[in-house]
Amino acid sequence: SIAYVNLVSIKATMADASSNQFAGKLRQSKNAVPCNFDSLTVRAKLRYDPEAIGLASTDYGHIVRDIPFAVLYPTSSDDITELIKFSNKCPLPFNVSARGYGHSVRGQDMSHNGIVVNMLSLNEQYKNATGIRVSTAGHYADVGGEQLWIDVLNATLQHGLAPVSWTDYLYLTVGGTLSNAGISGQTFLHGPQISNVLEMDVITGKGDFMTCSKDKNSELFFAVLGGLGQFGIINRARIVLAKAPKRVKWVKMLYYDFSIFTRDQEHLISINGLDYLEGELMMDYTPIDDWRSPFFTPYNESQISSLLKKHGILYCIEMVKYYDDETANLVDKEVQRLQVGLNYIPGFSFTRDETYVDFLNRVRQGELTLRSKGLWDVPHPWLNLFVPKSRIMDFNAGVIVDILHREKKTKGPLLFYPTTKTKWDDRMSAVTPDEDIFYILGLLHSGNFSNWQDLDNQNNEVLEFCDRAGIKLKQYLPHYKSKEDWIKQFGSKWNTFQRRKAQFDPRMILSPGQKIFNSV
Ligand code: FAD
Repeated sequence: SIAYVNLVSIKATMADASSNQFAGKLRQSKNAVPCNFDSLTVRAKLRYDPEAIGLASTDYGHIVRDIPFAVLYPTSSDDITELIKFSNKCPLPFNVSARGYGHSVRGQDMSHNGIVVNMLSLNEQYKNATGIRVSTAGHYADVGGEQLWIDVLNATLQHGLAPVSWTDYLYLTVGGTLSNAGISGQTFLHGPQISNVLEMDVITGKGDFMTCSKDKNSELFFAVLGGLGQFGIINRARIVLAKAPKRVKWVKMLYYDFSIFTRDQEHLISINGLDYLEGELMMDYTPIDDWRSPFFTPYNESQISSLLKKHGILYCIEMVKYYDDETANLVDKEVQRLQVGLNYIPGFSFTRDETYVDFLNRVRQGELTLRSKGLWDVPHPWLNLFVPKSRIMDFNAGVIVDILHREKKTKGPLLFYPTTKTKWDDRMSAVTPDEDIFYILGLLHSGNFSNWQDLDNQNNEVLEFCDRAGIKLKQYLPHYKSKEDWIKQFGSKWNTFQRRKAQFDPRMILSPGQKIFNSV
Protein backbone atom coordinates (compact mmCIF):
# COMPACT_ATOMS: atom_id res chain seq x y z
CA SER A 1 0.00 0.00 0.00
CA ILE A 2 2.97 2.33 -0.06
CA ALA A 3 3.89 4.26 -3.12
CA TYR A 4 7.54 3.49 -3.54
CA VAL A 5 9.73 3.23 -6.60
CA ASN A 6 11.29 -0.17 -6.75
CA LEU A 7 14.90 0.75 -7.33
CA VAL A 8 16.14 -1.93 -5.00
CA SER A 9 18.51 -3.43 -7.53
CA ILE A 10 20.25 -0.13 -8.02
CA LYS A 11 23.35 0.34 -5.95
CA ALA A 12 24.23 3.90 -5.25
CA THR A 13 27.88 3.03 -5.10
CA MET A 14 27.77 3.40 -8.88
CA ALA A 15 29.91 6.48 -9.03
CA ASP A 16 29.37 6.79 -12.75
CA ALA A 17 25.60 6.48 -12.65
CA SER A 18 23.79 9.19 -14.55
CA SER A 19 20.39 10.74 -14.43
CA ASN A 20 19.60 8.99 -17.73
CA GLN A 21 20.20 5.67 -16.04
CA PHE A 22 17.80 6.81 -13.32
CA ALA A 23 15.16 7.54 -15.93
CA GLY A 24 15.93 4.22 -17.55
CA LYS A 25 15.46 2.33 -14.31
CA LEU A 26 12.25 4.22 -13.64
CA ARG A 27 10.99 3.05 -16.99
CA GLN A 28 12.01 -0.52 -16.25
CA SER A 29 10.46 -0.66 -12.81
CA LYS A 30 7.36 -2.78 -12.47
CA ASN A 31 4.16 -1.11 -13.65
CA ALA A 32 6.04 2.09 -14.33
CA VAL A 33 5.01 4.33 -17.18
CA PRO A 34 7.98 6.32 -18.49
CA CYS A 35 8.50 9.64 -16.74
CA ASN A 36 9.62 12.45 -18.93
CA PHE A 37 12.96 12.71 -17.21
CA ASP A 38 14.44 14.87 -19.95
CA SER A 39 12.16 17.68 -18.91
CA LEU A 40 13.62 17.74 -15.39
CA THR A 41 15.88 20.78 -15.53
CA VAL A 42 17.15 20.10 -12.01
CA ARG A 43 18.71 16.89 -13.32
CA ALA A 44 22.07 18.64 -13.54
CA LYS A 45 22.03 19.22 -9.77
CA LEU A 46 21.70 15.54 -8.88
CA ARG A 47 24.87 13.90 -7.64
CA TYR A 48 25.67 10.19 -7.68
CA ASP A 49 29.31 10.24 -6.63
CA PRO A 50 30.52 8.33 -3.55
CA GLU A 51 31.14 11.53 -1.59
CA ALA A 52 27.56 12.78 -2.00
CA ILE A 53 26.00 9.34 -1.55
CA GLY A 54 28.26 8.56 1.42
CA LEU A 55 27.29 11.73 3.27
CA ALA A 56 23.58 11.24 2.62
CA SER A 57 23.61 7.64 3.82
CA THR A 58 25.02 8.38 7.24
CA ASP A 59 24.05 10.55 10.21
CA TYR A 60 25.18 11.46 13.72
CA GLY A 61 23.75 8.20 15.05
CA HIS A 62 26.05 6.00 12.95
CA ILE A 63 23.59 3.18 13.43
CA VAL A 64 21.38 3.26 10.31
CA ARG A 65 22.75 3.30 6.77
CA ASP A 66 20.22 3.80 3.97
CA ILE A 67 21.72 4.43 0.56
CA PRO A 68 19.87 6.91 -1.66
CA PHE A 69 19.81 6.70 -5.40
CA ALA A 70 21.00 10.29 -5.79
CA VAL A 71 21.45 13.53 -3.87
CA LEU A 72 19.99 16.85 -5.00
CA TYR A 73 22.20 19.89 -4.41
CA PRO A 74 19.57 22.64 -4.85
CA THR A 75 20.42 26.29 -5.29
CA SER A 76 16.85 27.53 -4.96
CA SER A 77 13.49 26.42 -3.62
CA ASP A 78 12.36 26.02 -7.25
CA ASP A 79 14.79 23.11 -7.61
CA ILE A 80 13.11 21.27 -4.75
CA THR A 81 9.63 22.11 -5.98
CA GLU A 82 10.47 20.75 -9.40
CA LEU A 83 11.90 17.52 -8.02
CA ILE A 84 8.86 16.85 -5.83
CA LYS A 85 6.42 17.67 -8.62
CA PHE A 86 8.37 15.34 -10.91
CA SER A 87 8.17 12.51 -8.40
CA ASN A 88 4.42 13.08 -8.06
CA LYS A 89 3.99 12.75 -11.81
CA CYS A 90 5.74 9.37 -11.87
CA PRO A 91 3.36 6.42 -11.79
CA LEU A 92 5.38 5.10 -8.86
CA PRO A 93 6.90 8.13 -7.17
CA PHE A 94 10.35 8.05 -5.60
CA ASN A 95 10.97 9.24 -2.04
CA VAL A 96 12.49 12.59 -1.20
CA SER A 97 14.13 13.45 2.10
CA ALA A 98 15.43 16.82 3.27
CA ARG A 99 18.79 16.47 4.98
CA GLY A 100 19.57 19.42 7.23
CA TYR A 101 22.78 18.96 9.22
CA GLY A 102 22.37 15.17 9.40
CA HIS A 103 22.20 15.15 13.21
CA SER A 104 19.46 12.60 13.42
CA VAL A 105 20.46 9.42 15.21
CA ARG A 106 18.29 6.79 13.47
CA GLY A 107 18.39 7.58 9.77
CA GLN A 108 15.38 9.92 9.95
CA ASP A 109 16.90 12.11 7.22
CA MET A 110 17.75 9.28 4.83
CA SER A 111 15.96 8.07 1.72
CA HIS A 112 16.58 4.45 0.83
CA ASN A 113 16.85 4.28 -2.98
CA GLY A 114 15.19 7.67 -3.26
CA ILE A 115 16.61 11.17 -3.39
CA VAL A 116 18.09 13.12 -0.50
CA VAL A 117 17.98 16.91 -0.72
CA ASN A 118 21.16 18.42 0.69
CA MET A 119 19.56 21.50 2.25
CA LEU A 120 22.87 23.22 3.06
CA SER A 121 23.46 23.62 -0.66
CA LEU A 122 20.72 26.28 -0.66
CA ASN A 123 23.29 28.63 0.84
CA GLU A 124 24.74 28.97 -2.68
CA GLN A 125 21.85 31.21 -3.67
CA TYR A 126 22.76 33.97 -1.23
CA LYS A 127 26.17 34.74 -2.77
CA ASN A 128 27.79 37.16 -0.29
CA ALA A 129 24.66 37.55 1.83
CA THR A 130 23.01 35.05 4.18
CA GLY A 131 19.67 33.31 4.41
CA ILE A 132 18.82 35.28 7.56
CA ARG A 133 16.95 38.60 7.40
CA VAL A 134 16.23 40.42 10.64
CA SER A 135 13.28 42.75 11.19
CA THR A 136 14.19 44.96 14.14
CA ALA A 137 10.79 46.62 14.06
CA GLY A 138 8.89 43.35 13.94
CA HIS A 139 11.20 41.51 16.38
CA TYR A 140 11.49 38.54 14.07
CA ALA A 141 13.95 36.95 11.64
CA ASP A 142 13.11 35.33 8.32
CA VAL A 143 15.41 32.38 8.16
CA GLY A 144 16.05 29.73 5.49
CA GLY A 145 15.17 26.19 6.62
CA GLU A 146 18.75 25.24 5.83
CA GLN A 147 20.29 27.78 8.22
CA LEU A 148 22.15 26.68 11.33
CA TRP A 149 20.97 28.05 14.67
CA ILE A 150 24.51 29.25 15.45
CA ASP A 151 24.30 31.47 12.36
CA VAL A 152 20.86 32.69 13.38
CA LEU A 153 22.32 33.64 16.76
CA ASN A 154 25.25 35.52 15.27
CA ALA A 155 23.11 37.35 12.70
CA THR A 156 20.41 38.43 15.15
CA LEU A 157 22.91 39.55 17.80
CA GLN A 158 24.18 42.15 15.36
CA HIS A 159 20.84 43.86 15.96
CA GLY A 160 20.88 43.30 19.72
CA LEU A 161 18.19 40.61 19.33
CA ALA A 162 18.06 36.81 19.61
CA PRO A 163 15.54 33.95 19.42
CA VAL A 164 14.02 33.10 22.80
CA SER A 165 13.94 29.31 22.59
CA TRP A 166 16.97 27.15 21.87
CA THR A 167 18.44 23.69 21.66
CA ASP A 168 21.47 22.80 23.79
CA TYR A 169 23.58 22.49 20.66
CA LEU A 170 23.47 25.09 17.90
CA TYR A 171 24.93 23.25 14.90
CA LEU A 172 21.50 22.01 13.81
CA THR A 173 19.33 23.42 11.03
CA VAL A 174 16.17 25.42 11.56
CA GLY A 175 14.22 22.96 9.36
CA GLY A 176 15.61 19.98 11.27
CA THR A 177 14.70 21.18 14.76
CA LEU A 178 11.29 22.58 13.72
CA SER A 179 10.47 19.13 12.32
CA ASN A 180 10.93 17.77 15.85
CA ALA A 181 10.29 20.51 18.45
CA GLY A 182 13.59 22.13 19.49
CA ILE A 183 13.83 21.85 23.26
CA SER A 184 16.17 23.10 25.96
CA GLY A 185 16.15 24.90 29.28
CA GLN A 186 14.09 27.81 27.90
CA THR A 187 11.19 25.52 26.88
CA PHE A 188 9.34 25.83 30.21
CA LEU A 189 9.22 29.60 29.76
CA HIS A 190 8.82 30.19 26.02
CA GLY A 191 7.76 26.79 24.75
CA PRO A 192 9.85 24.74 22.31
CA GLN A 193 11.22 26.35 19.15
CA ILE A 194 8.07 25.27 17.27
CA SER A 195 6.04 27.52 19.59
CA ASN A 196 8.09 30.52 18.46
CA VAL A 197 7.46 30.48 14.72
CA LEU A 198 5.17 33.11 13.18
CA GLU A 199 5.07 32.00 9.57
CA MET A 200 6.66 29.53 7.15
CA ASP A 201 7.12 28.92 3.45
CA VAL A 202 6.71 25.21 2.85
CA ILE A 203 7.04 23.03 -0.24
CA THR A 204 4.44 20.33 0.31
CA GLY A 205 4.67 16.70 -0.70
CA LYS A 206 2.60 17.64 -3.75
CA GLY A 207 5.19 20.21 -4.75
CA ASP A 208 3.02 23.21 -3.87
CA PHE A 209 4.90 26.23 -2.49
CA MET A 210 2.70 27.61 0.30
CA THR A 211 3.05 30.35 2.88
CA CYS A 212 1.40 29.37 6.13
CA SER A 213 0.82 30.72 9.63
CA LYS A 214 -1.76 30.40 12.43
CA ASP A 215 -4.17 32.38 10.27
CA LYS A 216 -3.21 31.38 6.73
CA ASN A 217 -3.11 27.75 5.58
CA SER A 218 -3.11 26.94 9.28
CA GLU A 219 -3.59 23.20 8.75
CA LEU A 220 -0.23 23.03 6.97
CA PHE A 221 1.41 25.34 9.54
CA PHE A 222 0.47 23.14 12.49
CA ALA A 223 1.12 19.92 10.55
CA VAL A 224 4.72 20.88 9.76
CA LEU A 225 5.65 21.97 13.32
CA GLY A 226 6.91 18.78 14.92
CA GLY A 227 5.72 16.95 11.79
CA LEU A 228 8.89 14.83 11.36
CA GLY A 229 9.28 16.09 7.78
CA GLN A 230 6.11 14.29 6.65
CA PHE A 231 4.13 17.13 5.11
CA GLY A 232 6.53 19.53 3.47
CA ILE A 233 10.01 20.93 3.27
CA ILE A 234 10.46 24.13 5.29
CA ASN A 235 11.96 26.71 3.02
CA ARG A 236 11.66 29.73 5.32
CA ALA A 237 10.60 30.22 8.92
CA ARG A 238 9.82 33.51 10.65
CA ILE A 239 11.31 33.20 14.12
CA VAL A 240 10.32 35.30 17.16
CA LEU A 241 13.14 37.47 18.56
CA ALA A 242 13.59 39.39 21.81
CA LYS A 243 16.22 41.74 23.18
CA ALA A 244 19.38 39.73 23.76
CA PRO A 245 21.07 39.79 27.16
CA LYS A 246 24.85 40.14 27.37
CA ARG A 247 25.80 37.74 30.11
CA VAL A 248 24.43 34.96 32.30
CA LYS A 249 24.75 33.69 35.85
CA TRP A 250 24.87 29.94 35.47
CA VAL A 251 24.19 27.94 38.64
CA LYS A 252 24.35 24.21 39.42
CA MET A 253 22.96 22.79 42.67
CA LEU A 254 23.24 19.22 43.87
CA TYR A 255 20.77 16.88 45.58
CA TYR A 256 20.80 13.29 46.73
CA ASP A 257 17.08 13.11 47.43
CA PHE A 258 15.08 12.72 44.22
CA SER A 259 11.80 14.00 45.60
CA ILE A 260 13.41 17.20 46.92
CA PHE A 261 15.23 17.64 43.61
CA THR A 262 12.04 17.39 41.54
CA ARG A 263 10.09 19.55 44.00
CA ASP A 264 12.70 22.30 43.65
CA GLN A 265 12.80 21.96 39.85
CA GLU A 266 9.02 22.28 39.66
CA HIS A 267 9.10 25.24 42.06
CA LEU A 268 11.67 27.01 39.87
CA ILE A 269 9.59 26.67 36.70
CA SER A 270 6.54 28.01 38.54
CA ILE A 271 8.05 31.32 39.74
CA ASN A 272 8.95 34.45 37.81
CA GLY A 273 12.46 35.49 37.01
CA LEU A 274 14.29 32.39 35.83
CA ASP A 275 15.49 32.26 32.21
CA TYR A 276 16.58 28.65 31.87
CA LEU A 277 16.19 25.40 33.80
CA GLU A 278 17.61 21.97 33.09
CA GLY A 279 18.98 19.18 35.25
CA GLU A 280 21.07 16.06 35.06
CA LEU A 281 21.80 12.78 36.73
CA MET A 282 25.30 12.20 38.11
CA MET A 283 26.39 8.62 38.74
CA ASP A 284 29.30 7.37 40.84
CA TYR A 285 30.79 5.52 37.86
CA THR A 286 30.75 8.39 35.31
CA PRO A 287 32.94 11.52 35.05
CA ILE A 288 31.58 14.43 37.12
CA ASP A 289 31.66 16.78 34.16
CA ASP A 290 30.26 15.27 30.99
CA TRP A 291 31.82 16.17 27.63
CA ARG A 292 29.07 18.65 26.72
CA SER A 293 29.97 21.61 28.86
CA PRO A 294 32.69 21.37 31.50
CA PHE A 295 31.57 23.40 34.48
CA PHE A 296 33.26 22.41 37.74
CA THR A 297 36.76 23.28 38.97
CA PRO A 298 39.05 20.36 39.93
CA TYR A 299 38.45 21.24 43.58
CA ASN A 300 34.66 21.13 43.12
CA GLU A 301 35.05 17.82 41.34
CA SER A 302 36.85 16.25 44.28
CA GLN A 303 34.14 17.52 46.66
CA ILE A 304 31.41 16.09 44.44
CA SER A 305 33.27 12.85 43.97
CA SER A 306 33.29 12.17 47.75
CA LEU A 307 29.59 12.88 47.87
CA LEU A 308 28.94 10.54 44.95
CA LYS A 309 30.86 7.75 46.69
CA LYS A 310 28.46 8.09 49.57
CA HIS A 311 25.18 8.38 47.65
CA GLY A 312 25.79 6.59 44.34
CA ILE A 313 23.54 9.01 42.44
CA LEU A 314 23.34 12.78 42.64
CA TYR A 315 20.73 14.95 40.97
CA CYS A 316 21.81 18.32 39.64
CA ILE A 317 19.68 21.38 38.92
CA GLU A 318 21.09 23.74 36.31
CA MET A 319 19.56 27.21 36.25
CA VAL A 320 20.43 30.45 34.53
CA LYS A 321 19.64 34.11 35.00
CA TYR A 322 20.38 36.44 32.08
CA TYR A 323 21.61 39.98 32.63
CA ASP A 324 23.01 43.00 30.82
CA ASP A 325 24.68 46.30 31.69
CA GLU A 326 21.57 47.79 33.28
CA THR A 327 20.87 44.77 35.49
CA ALA A 328 24.49 43.78 36.27
CA ASN A 329 24.46 45.21 39.79
CA LEU A 330 21.21 43.44 40.66
CA VAL A 331 21.84 40.00 39.24
CA ASP A 332 23.51 38.39 42.25
CA LYS A 333 20.63 39.49 44.48
CA GLU A 334 18.19 38.12 41.92
CA VAL A 335 19.96 34.73 41.89
CA GLN A 336 19.81 34.69 45.71
CA ARG A 337 16.09 35.43 45.53
CA LEU A 338 15.57 32.54 43.10
CA GLN A 339 17.39 30.22 45.48
CA VAL A 340 15.26 31.11 48.50
CA GLY A 341 13.50 28.02 49.82
CA LEU A 342 15.54 25.56 47.72
CA ASN A 343 16.84 22.52 49.57
CA TYR A 344 20.04 21.59 47.74
CA ILE A 345 22.85 20.00 49.74
CA PRO A 346 24.37 22.84 51.84
CA GLY A 347 27.60 24.05 50.26
CA PHE A 348 26.83 22.37 46.93
CA SER A 349 25.71 25.32 44.84
CA PHE A 350 28.22 26.44 42.20
CA THR A 351 28.01 29.58 40.06
CA ARG A 352 29.71 30.67 36.87
CA ASP A 353 29.53 33.92 35.01
CA GLU A 354 29.58 33.60 31.19
CA THR A 355 28.78 35.64 28.14
CA TYR A 356 25.36 34.86 26.71
CA VAL A 357 26.95 33.53 23.51
CA ASP A 358 29.38 31.22 25.31
CA PHE A 359 26.54 29.89 27.41
CA LEU A 360 24.27 29.20 24.42
CA ASN A 361 27.13 27.71 22.43
CA ARG A 362 28.39 25.69 25.41
CA VAL A 363 28.31 22.30 23.68
CA ARG A 364 30.59 23.38 20.83
CA GLN A 365 33.79 23.15 22.88
CA GLY A 366 32.85 19.64 23.97
CA GLU A 367 32.25 18.70 20.34
CA LEU A 368 35.68 19.95 19.30
CA THR A 369 37.32 18.04 22.15
CA LEU A 370 35.53 14.82 21.21
CA ARG A 371 36.41 15.35 17.55
CA SER A 372 40.09 15.72 18.44
CA LYS A 373 39.91 12.36 20.23
CA GLY A 374 38.06 10.66 17.36
CA LEU A 375 34.98 10.26 19.57
CA TRP A 376 32.48 12.40 17.68
CA ASP A 377 31.73 10.25 14.64
CA VAL A 378 30.87 7.13 16.62
CA PRO A 379 27.55 5.31 17.21
CA HIS A 380 25.02 7.24 19.31
CA PRO A 381 22.23 4.99 20.56
CA TRP A 382 20.37 7.90 22.17
CA LEU A 383 16.99 7.73 23.83
CA ASN A 384 14.93 10.84 24.57
CA LEU A 385 11.70 10.58 26.52
CA PHE A 386 8.90 12.81 27.79
CA VAL A 387 7.75 11.36 31.12
CA PRO A 388 4.48 12.43 32.83
CA LYS A 389 5.02 14.14 36.17
CA SER A 390 2.50 11.94 37.95
CA ARG A 391 4.76 8.88 37.52
CA ILE A 392 8.11 10.47 38.15
CA MET A 393 8.78 8.67 41.46
CA ASP A 394 8.12 5.28 39.82
CA PHE A 395 10.35 6.32 36.95
CA ASN A 396 13.19 7.17 39.34
CA ALA A 397 12.92 3.85 41.17
CA GLY A 398 12.49 1.69 38.06
CA VAL A 399 14.64 3.44 35.49
CA ILE A 400 17.18 5.76 37.12
CA VAL A 401 18.02 3.64 40.15
CA ASP A 402 17.21 0.14 39.04
CA ILE A 403 18.26 0.16 35.38
CA LEU A 404 20.68 3.02 34.76
CA HIS A 405 22.57 3.03 38.04
CA ARG A 406 22.51 -0.72 38.65
CA GLU A 407 23.73 -1.64 35.17
CA LYS A 408 26.39 1.12 35.08
CA LYS A 409 26.59 1.10 31.29
CA THR A 410 25.98 4.61 30.07
CA LYS A 411 28.67 7.29 30.11
CA GLY A 412 26.59 9.86 28.38
CA PRO A 413 25.18 13.10 29.62
CA LEU A 414 21.92 12.10 31.33
CA LEU A 415 19.58 15.07 31.17
CA PHE A 416 16.48 15.28 33.33
CA TYR A 417 14.26 18.33 33.79
CA PRO A 418 10.59 19.36 33.84
CA THR A 419 8.74 21.53 31.39
CA THR A 420 5.22 22.82 30.91
CA LYS A 421 2.67 21.55 28.39
CA THR A 422 0.76 24.83 28.27
CA LYS A 423 3.50 26.26 26.05
CA TRP A 424 2.86 23.60 23.35
CA ASP A 425 -0.04 24.36 20.99
CA ASP A 426 -1.94 21.11 20.74
CA ARG A 427 -2.74 21.72 17.08
CA MET A 428 0.94 21.12 16.25
CA SER A 429 2.00 17.61 15.19
CA ALA A 430 4.47 17.34 18.10
CA VAL A 431 3.27 15.01 20.85
CA THR A 432 3.73 15.25 24.62
CA PRO A 433 2.25 13.37 27.60
CA ASP A 434 -1.21 14.49 28.57
CA GLU A 435 -0.24 16.32 31.77
CA ASP A 436 0.48 19.97 32.56
CA ILE A 437 4.05 19.17 33.60
CA PHE A 438 6.22 16.48 32.08
CA TYR A 439 9.90 15.64 32.41
CA ILE A 440 12.45 15.48 29.62
CA LEU A 441 14.93 12.62 29.91
CA GLY A 442 17.89 12.55 27.52
CA LEU A 443 20.05 9.44 27.61
CA LEU A 444 22.75 10.85 25.35
CA HIS A 445 25.05 7.84 25.43
CA SER A 446 28.39 9.02 24.09
CA GLY A 447 31.99 7.93 24.20
CA ASN A 448 34.14 5.00 23.38
CA PHE A 449 31.91 2.03 24.11
CA SER A 450 32.74 -1.15 22.30
CA ASN A 451 29.20 -2.31 21.78
CA TRP A 452 26.42 0.20 21.11
CA GLN A 453 23.84 -2.62 20.94
CA ASP A 454 24.37 -3.11 24.66
CA LEU A 455 23.12 0.41 25.29
CA ASP A 456 20.33 -0.05 22.81
CA ASN A 457 19.24 -3.12 24.74
CA GLN A 458 19.25 -0.99 27.85
CA ASN A 459 17.08 1.60 26.07
CA ASN A 460 14.63 -1.18 25.25
CA GLU A 461 14.69 -2.30 28.86
CA VAL A 462 13.74 1.24 29.89
CA LEU A 463 10.87 1.32 27.39
CA GLU A 464 9.65 -2.13 28.42
CA PHE A 465 9.74 -1.21 32.11
CA CYS A 466 7.64 1.91 31.45
CA ASP A 467 5.23 -0.09 29.33
CA ARG A 468 4.78 -2.71 32.07
CA ALA A 469 4.43 -0.02 34.73
CA GLY A 470 1.83 1.82 32.64
CA ILE A 471 3.93 5.02 32.46
CA LYS A 472 2.46 6.80 29.45
CA LEU A 473 5.58 8.37 28.02
CA LYS A 474 6.30 9.76 24.58
CA GLN A 475 9.55 9.43 22.71
CA TYR A 476 11.22 12.63 21.51
CA LEU A 477 13.12 12.26 18.19
CA PRO A 478 11.17 9.01 17.99
CA HIS A 479 12.07 5.89 16.09
CA TYR A 480 9.78 2.90 15.79
CA LYS A 481 9.66 -0.14 13.62
CA SER A 482 5.94 -0.91 13.60
CA LYS A 483 2.87 1.04 12.61
CA GLU A 484 1.23 0.11 15.92
CA ASP A 485 4.02 1.84 17.81
CA TRP A 486 3.59 4.99 15.72
CA ILE A 487 -0.15 4.95 16.36
CA LYS A 488 0.55 4.65 20.09
CA GLN A 489 3.10 7.46 19.95
CA PHE A 490 0.65 9.86 18.30
CA GLY A 491 -2.28 8.68 20.40
CA SER A 492 -5.30 10.91 19.86
CA LYS A 493 -3.35 12.87 17.21
CA TRP A 494 -2.87 9.88 14.92
CA ASN A 495 -6.03 10.40 12.87
CA THR A 496 -5.16 14.04 12.29
CA PHE A 497 -1.59 13.09 11.39
CA GLN A 498 -2.83 10.56 8.82
CA ARG A 499 -5.40 12.96 7.39
CA ARG A 500 -2.77 15.66 7.01
CA LYS A 501 -0.47 13.19 5.27
CA ALA A 502 -3.24 12.40 2.78
CA GLN A 503 -3.80 16.12 2.28
CA PHE A 504 -0.23 17.36 1.86
CA ASP A 505 1.75 14.31 0.77
CA PRO A 506 -0.81 11.85 -0.61
CA ARG A 507 1.77 9.81 -2.48
CA MET A 508 3.88 9.45 0.65
CA ILE A 509 7.04 10.85 -0.84
CA LEU A 510 8.57 12.83 2.02
CA SER A 511 10.97 11.81 4.82
CA PRO A 512 10.77 8.02 4.42
CA GLY A 513 13.64 7.66 6.92
CA GLN A 514 11.16 8.26 9.75
CA LYS A 515 9.55 4.96 8.70
CA ILE A 516 6.05 6.07 9.60
CA PHE A 517 4.29 5.58 6.29
CA ASN A 518 7.15 4.02 4.36
CA SER A 519 8.45 0.76 5.77
CA VAL A 520 11.65 -0.26 4.02
P1 FAD B 1 18.33 16.25 10.07
O1 FAD B 1 18.84 15.18 10.94
O2 FAD B 1 19.07 16.52 8.83
O3 FAD B 1 16.78 15.99 9.73
C1 FAD B 1 15.88 15.61 10.75
C2 FAD B 1 14.49 15.37 10.16
O4 FAD B 1 13.95 16.60 9.69
C3 FAD B 1 14.49 14.45 8.95
O5 FAD B 1 13.28 13.72 8.94
C4 FAD B 1 14.55 15.40 7.79
O6 FAD B 1 14.02 14.83 6.61
C5 FAD B 1 13.72 16.55 8.31
N1 FAD B 1 14.15 17.85 7.78
C6 FAD B 1 15.39 18.38 7.75
N2 FAD B 1 15.34 19.61 7.22
C7 FAD B 1 14.03 19.85 6.92
C8 FAD B 1 13.33 20.96 6.35
N3 FAD B 1 13.95 22.08 5.99
N4 FAD B 1 12.00 20.84 6.20
C9 FAD B 1 11.33 19.73 6.57
N5 FAD B 1 11.93 18.66 7.09
C10 FAD B 1 13.28 18.73 7.27
N6 FAD B 1 17.27 18.50 19.85
C11 FAD B 1 16.63 19.31 20.70
O7 FAD B 1 15.44 19.53 20.56
N7 FAD B 1 17.30 19.88 21.73
C12 FAD B 1 18.63 19.73 21.92
O8 FAD B 1 19.18 20.28 22.84
C13 FAD B 1 19.33 18.90 21.01
N8 FAD B 1 20.66 18.73 21.13
C14 FAD B 1 21.31 17.95 20.23
C15 FAD B 1 22.69 17.80 20.35
C16 FAD B 1 23.38 17.02 19.46
C17 FAD B 1 24.87 16.88 19.60
C18 FAD B 1 22.68 16.36 18.42
C19 FAD B 1 23.41 15.47 17.46
C20 FAD B 1 21.31 16.48 18.30
C21 FAD B 1 20.61 17.28 19.20
N9 FAD B 1 19.23 17.45 19.11
C22 FAD B 1 18.59 18.28 19.98
C23 FAD B 1 18.44 16.73 18.11
C24 FAD B 1 18.21 17.56 16.87
O9 FAD B 1 17.33 18.63 17.14
C25 FAD B 1 17.56 16.73 15.77
O10 FAD B 1 18.32 15.60 15.51
C26 FAD B 1 17.42 17.57 14.51
O11 FAD B 1 16.66 16.85 13.60
C27 FAD B 1 18.76 17.84 13.94
O12 FAD B 1 18.68 18.81 12.92
P2 FAD B 1 19.37 18.50 11.56
O13 FAD B 1 19.44 19.79 10.83
O14 FAD B 1 20.61 17.76 11.71
O15 FAD B 1 18.21 17.59 10.91
